[in-house]
Amino acid sequence: MREMINEMTISFKAISVNEGFARACVAAFCAQVNPSLDEITDIKTAVSEAVTNCVVHAYPKKVGDVTIKVELFENSVVIYISDMGVGIEDFEKAREPFFTTKPNEERSGMGFTVMESFMDKLDLIKNQGKGLTVKMEKFFSIKKNLAVGE
Ligand code: ATP
Ligand code: MG
Repeated sequence: MREMINEMTISFKAISVNEGFARACVAAFCAQVNPSLDEITDIKTAVSEAVTNCVVHAYPKKVGDVTIKVELFENSVVIYISDMGVGIEDFEKAREPFFTTKPNEERSGMGFTVMESFMDKLDLIKNQGKGLTVKMEKFFSIKKNLAVGE
C-alpha cells in the first residue's frame, strides 16, 4: 500500500469567481511535493475545467456547492471534484470530444477531453445522493533530491 502524505478538502459556491480560487488552491497544496511547472499547469487546467463544469452545468436552478478533496502521495495526486447537482445520465457520451449540451453558449464540448489528456486517469462517479464526482489522478515525475546534506 502506498502512503498518503497529506489530504485536504475545500468547499465553495459554484460560481465562476471561484474557478481561479480552486485551481490556485489545489496548485498551492501540491507544491509541497515539488511538482514540475508543467505538472502544476496540467493540474490547474484540469481543475479549472471540472470546476467550470460545476458552475455551468450542475445547478441550472439554484446554485449549490462544489467540494474538492485532494489526496497527496509521494508520486501522485488524486483530486475529487464533486457537486450535488443534476448529474450526468450517459458518461460515455459526455466524455466524447465535442459533445456538449450547451452548443449555443460558446461551449465546445472539450472539457472532459482536456481533463483526460492533461491528467493520467479520469473517472466519472455518480454520487449516492445527487450529482457528479470527477476523480482524476496525476503522477509526478521522479525528481532527484538536490538539497545539500539530505
Ligand atoms: P467546454 O468544457 O468545452 O466548455 P462542455 O462543458 O459542454 O464544453 P465538457 O466539459 O466535456 O463540455 O462536458 C460535456 C457535457 O457533460 C456537458 O455539456 C454537460 O452536459 C455534461 N456535464 C459536465 N459536467 C457536468 C456536471 N458537473 N453536472 C452536470 N452535467 C455535466
Ligand atoms: Mg466543460
